[in-house]
Amino acid sequence: MSKEFVDVLVIGAGPSGCVSSSYLKKNNVNVKVVEKTKFPRLVVGESLIPRVMDHFDEAGLFPALDKMGFEKKLGARFLRGDEVCIFDFSNKFGEGWDWTWQVPRADFDDVLAQEVIRKGIDLEFETEVIGIEFNGTDSVTTVKNKNGETKEIHAKFVIDSSGYGRVLPRLLDLEKPSKLSPHSAIFSHVKDINREEGTEGTLISFDIIETEVWLWVIPFSNGNTSVGIVGPTEFIDKLSENGDTAEALRKAISLSDYYVKRFGDVEFLFEPKHLKDYSCSVKSLFGDGFALTGNASEFLDPVFSSGMAFATESGMLAAKLALRQLNGEKIDWQKEYSDYILYGVDVFTTYVKEWYTGNLQELFFHQPENPDVKRKICAVLAGYVWDKKNTFVRIHDTAIKNLAEFIKKEKEQA
Ligand code: FAD
Repeated sequence: MSKEFVDVLVIGAGPSGCVSSSYLKKNNVNVKVVEKTKFPRLVVGESLIPRVMDHFDEAGLFPALDKMGFEKKLGARFLRGDEVCIFDFSNKFGEGWDWTWQVPRADFDDVLAQEVIRKGIDLEFETEVIGIEFNGTDSVTTVKNKNGETKEIHAKFVIDSSGYGRVLPRLLDLEKPSKLSPHSAIFSHVKDINREEGTEGTLISFDIIETEVWLWVIPFSNGNTSVGIVGPTEFIDKLSENGDTAEALRKAISLSDYYVKRFGDVEFLFEPKHLKDYSCSVKSLFGDGFALTGNASEFLDPVFSSGMAFATESGMLAAKLALRQLNGEKIDWQKEYSDYILYGVDVFTTYVKEWYTGNLQELFFHQPENPDVKRKICAVLAGYVWDKKNTFVRIHDTAIKNLAEFIKKEKEQA
C-alpha cells in the first residue's frame, strides 16, 4: 500500500475542513484534505449567521466568497399568524459582523473547496477514510479512492470535519445521543417564480405553524429558494407516512397561511430530502492526536442557524491549537478546546430548548418590544455566544425562562 506523510490530515472538505486547512496552510503547515464525494454536492445548512464571517475572513476565504454575489442576509424574520418579529443584525448588542449570506450550499462549498485548492492545499476528492490507527498523537489513516485503491496517510494530527459522515465518532466509539428531543426535517429547493420584488422576496423567514413546527424560507440570489419543514420526528413521520417526500412538503407548505400562495404550486428542483433525528452529540470533542469539528462533533437544531457557525468556530480553533501543538507547546485540549466550544453549544442549547417550549416565542412576539432585550438576543442569533458581557449569554439558562414567565403573568393579569 502506498504511503503519504503530512503534518495534519483534515477529513472532509465542508466549511469546517476548509476553514481549518486554510488557516494551517497560511501558517506553513503541511496539510492535506480528503473528501469522500465529488463537489458540487448537495448539503443542507443554507442560512448563515454573522459569526462565520470572522472565520472566513481569518482563514483568507472571504474574498473568494464575496465575489460570488450570494444573497446578503441582514437579519431574520419570525412569523406566527399575524405576528411578526424581525431581527436586524446591525442593531445587535456588542461587537461583530452585522451581515452574512444565505446560500445554496452546493455552490458555496464548491467555491470554498476550489479556493482551498488554489491556495495550494492538497485536496483529494472521492477519497474516503475507511480506517485509522493511533500511536500516541501520530496516526495512520487508511483511505480508499473511487477506483477502490487504498493508501496510508501518516499524520501528526487529524482534524475530523466529516460532518454526518462522523468518521472518528464511529471508528473510535465516541457517539452519544443528543440531549434534545428528536426532531426531523424535509426540504427542497424551488424555482421561486412567485417571488415578490424587493425585501419581501429575499427576506429569510421562519413561519411558526405550531409551537414545535416551523417552515423555513431561504431565498437565494440565483432565483431559487429553499423551503423546509421542521418538527418533532413523530409529526414529520406522519406527514411523510407513505414515503412521498414531495407530497409531505406540499402538505407542510399548505399549513402556512403566509407562504401557501407563493410556494403552493411551484415545482421542487429535487426530490425533497427527509433528514430524520438530525441532532447528534459525542462523548469527547478531542483525543490524543485528533479533534472533532463541526457536525462531526455536535449538531443541535436548524432553528437558529448555528450549525455553520459552530463548524467554522471549531474548525478555526482546532487548527490554531494543532499548530501550537506542532510547534512543541503542550495544549490543554479540555480547557482550550472542549470547554470553550461547549460553552457556546450550551448557550444555543438553551435557546433551542426554549424555542420548542414556546418561551422564546413569547419573548419574540411580545409587544411593546423591549429594545435592550432584543439587542441582546439579536447578538446571540448572530452567533456571538461567547460574549459574557451580554446577559442573555451569561445567564442564558435563567434569563429567557424568567422573562417568559413574567410576560405570561402580565398577560394573565391584563
Ligand atoms: P459538512 O458540510 O457536512 O461537510 C462534511 C464533509 O465530509 C462532506 O463533504 C462529506 O462528504 C465529507 N465526508 C463524510 N464522510 C467522509 C469520509 N469517510 N471520508 C472523507 N470525507 C468524508 N446550519 C446552518 O448554519 N444554517 C442552517 O440553516 C442549517 N440548516 C440545517 C437544517 C437541517 C435540517 C440540518 C440537519 C442541519 C442544518 N444546518 C444548518 C447544519 C449544517 O448542515 C451543518 O452544521 C454544516 O454543514 C456543518 O459543516 P461541516 O463542515 O461540519 O460538515
